[in-house]
Amino acid sequence: MSNARTRALAEFATHSAERFYEDSRPVSEYFGMNVFDLPKMQLYLSTEAYKAVVNAVNNGEKIERDIADQIAAGMKNWAVKMGATHYTHWFQPLTDATAEKHESFADPMEGGVGVFENFKGSTLIQQEPDASSFPNGGLRNTFEARGYTAWDPSSPAFIIGQTLCIPTVFVAYTGEALDQKTPHLKSIAAVDKAATAICKMFDKNVNKVRPQLGIEQEYFLVDEALYSARPDLVICGRTLVGHNAAKDQQLEDHYFGAIPSRVMAFMQDFETEAYKLGVRLKTRHNEVAPNQFEFAPVYGEANISSDQNLMMMIIMKNIAVKHKLKVIFHEKPFDGVNGSGKHCNWSMVTDTGVNLLKPGRTPRTNLQFLCFFSAVMRGVYEHNYLLMSTVASLNNMYRLGGSEAPPAVMSIFIGETLTKLVESIEQLTDKNLTSVTDKEVKVRSKLHIVNQIPEILPDNTDRNRTSPFAFTGNRFEFRAVGSSANVASSIFVLNTIVAEQLIRFKSLVDNNIESGLSMDKAMMKVIRQFLLESKKIRFEGNGYSDEWRKEAAKRGLKDVKNVPLAFKEFIDKKNVKLFEDMDIMTCREAMARYEVLNEIYVKKLQIEARVMGDLTTNHVIPTAITFQNSLIANVKGLKDLYPKDYAEMCAMQLRLISKISGYINNLHEDVHNLIEARKVANKIEDVPQKAKTYYDTVLPYMASIRRYADKLEMVIDDELWPLPKYRELQSFR
Ligand code: ADP
Ligand code: MG
Repeated sequence: MSNARTRALAEFATHSAERFYEDSRPVSEYFGMNVFDLPKMQLYLSTEAYKAVVNAVNNGEKIERDIADQIAAGMKNWAVKMGATHYTHWFQPLTDATAEKHESFADPMEGGVGVFENFKGSTLIQQEPDASSFPNGGLRNTFEARGYTAWDPSSPAFIIGQTLCIPTVFVAYTGEALDQKTPHLKSIAAVDKAATAICKMFDKNVNKVRPQLGIEQEYFLVDEALYSARPDLVICGRTLVGHNAAKDQQLEDHYFGAIPSRVMAFMQDFETEAYKLGVRLKTRHNEVAPNQFEFAPVYGEANISSDQNLMMMIIMKNIAVKHKLKVIFHEKPFDGVNGSGKHCNWSMVTDTGVNLLKPGRTPRTNLQFLCFFSAVMRGVYEHNYLLMSTVASLNNMYRLGGSEAPPAVMSIFIGETLTKLVESIEQLTDKNLTSVTDKEVKVRSKLHIVNQIPEILPDNTDRNRTSPFAFTGNRFEFRAVGSSANVASSIFVLNTIVAEQLIRFKSLVDNNIESGLSMDKAMMKVIRQFLLESKKIRFEGNGYSDEWRKEAAKRGLKDVKNVPLAFKEFIDKKNVKLFEDMDIMTCREAMARYEVLNEIYVKKLQIEARVMGDLTTNHVIPTAITFQNSLIANVKGLKDLYPKDYAEMCAMQLRLISKISGYINNLHEDVHNLIEARKVANKIEDVPQKAKTYYDTVLPYMASIRRYADKLEMVIDDELWPLPKYRELQSFR
């Protein structure tokens, strides 16, 4: 008996661990070799050109065209020496993927004979990709489909394969953003401006504040042969049917377990390439679900961390091919086991090297910490539904709000020590405002275990894995972001809402000072106000519990389970005003984003529904009928042999035959209804309305169809089942 599954399993058995990108040198010797970073710029650029780039990065100064020519020439010389034949403006359209259109360096020589490598400043700075098919939410009509990519000098160019990739923003003819990077960059500038103004009250030497990001990336690996035998994985990135394996993550033996050898070889290759791209990878480990893994680089400036994360997603996919593996970034590829996220560790650091979210050792640094800490709390409270809406997507909703990943409602966990501190601040009267910061905030106590074990210093915050937004000692960790998302699409909102509160903070403090309070008292008064105002967002308990769901609703914290409804946040009056006031997005850009989000939602669900129809009609039902026929033949044979007793002898077969018919009928009916629901929804022109209809009328069938298909998987002869099963997809030797 041979079918797609048995052939895939046979091929799977031949795959083994192997290295393809081994480099025996110490990492320090090849780290960053594929990036045109500052040291390389010094080598390849004139002092003038080098300084221009540094100025652009540090002070946001424009690079003049003639200098750009010099930079382009230096960049090209380096890239060609490294073996690059092409360059591309690398950009981040409103899909979660990145986009690239390669152009050759080779230009014809004058006189028509031969070619030479050429790269002009104007080409470095700006390109006009014919990219009219990217989602734009109405910002571009096809007849004037001009979109420009423009160089972002703050994120260094890099080489993947033989292509020089130049990070760029992607904007319309009108300058309106068509990408994720533009609002992110604007929001970083907003945080800088607002935070620096407050820092200057403490230290005149602070001239810049940079948001920092450390991104933990979770992902699944599946054998390529098994993957290819699953149309749902190939097309949707997740399994639409498939019964849970008898054993998956119950024993928690995969989490932090020994890394399987094939996976280890893949990770090592991936790391070698990542190091060459200047990514400071730090951790690697097994995650909770079988076949689920995670890596995290050391945190860094937000724009660069975000770009590097996207780079890593590309090279992981490339390298997996060599290992006959598929990397899955989908948020919920398998039902019944944990899904994947991208935990975004976020903080703010001054150009004098101070982490503004690190509780201090002196009263003064504590005061500064509390300014920023309370502003983040206040911002997340004020715009909790908007912030949560940034992670809403068809994919991520299969993950959020289950009993594993973060809940679909926003809350902040701060741990016991800080809760005590916050509570004491809330109780301060105007008379004793500074009594809290007079003392050092006790951040750590030593833990003694047994004699030979050195004393350990526990974090001042406990862990609460059920919180979507947790303070973890010197940063906040936003855990609800999906594993396939471009983090910029969430972080730009986080930056914006924090910047808004920092501005508000400063102006309230200024008022208090004007009315005669000392700076410390003026600040403490606002800190107290912010903490009191944001009280409802604080939750220290189990975010997965039903009690919390009820409590959150009572507090007016909305969940984002209804994805199309959550998208509406982008065009909500209050939020549009926020984006406009903070100079992040215009109303038109917000509307476009809203339109695009809905469009992607509809298309993804439409594709899933089609694949579901195909899987059930062309794989599951025919297999069920084949098996049922063999039962029928068996019953008929027994009847021939034992005409009198056959009914009793065939009791099980007869029951099964009728059970299978029942499931087939249910499946058939559901698929029919699914198709009808789609037909109705597809007639709707208005995209948001269409998304709502898809959510209300199409989505519910997906789970119901799956239930019957999975029941059939449980009763049908294993030999016949054509789709690799969960126990096979989730295994590695
Ligand atoms: P855990 O799984 O325990 O949360 P990991 O080590 O997997 O921790 O990831 C933590 C991430 O947070 C890393 O990327 C790390 O560099 C980053 N990080 C650490 N300190 C900060 C900080 N101050 N600001 C932003 N990110 C940080
Ligand atoms: Mg973490």
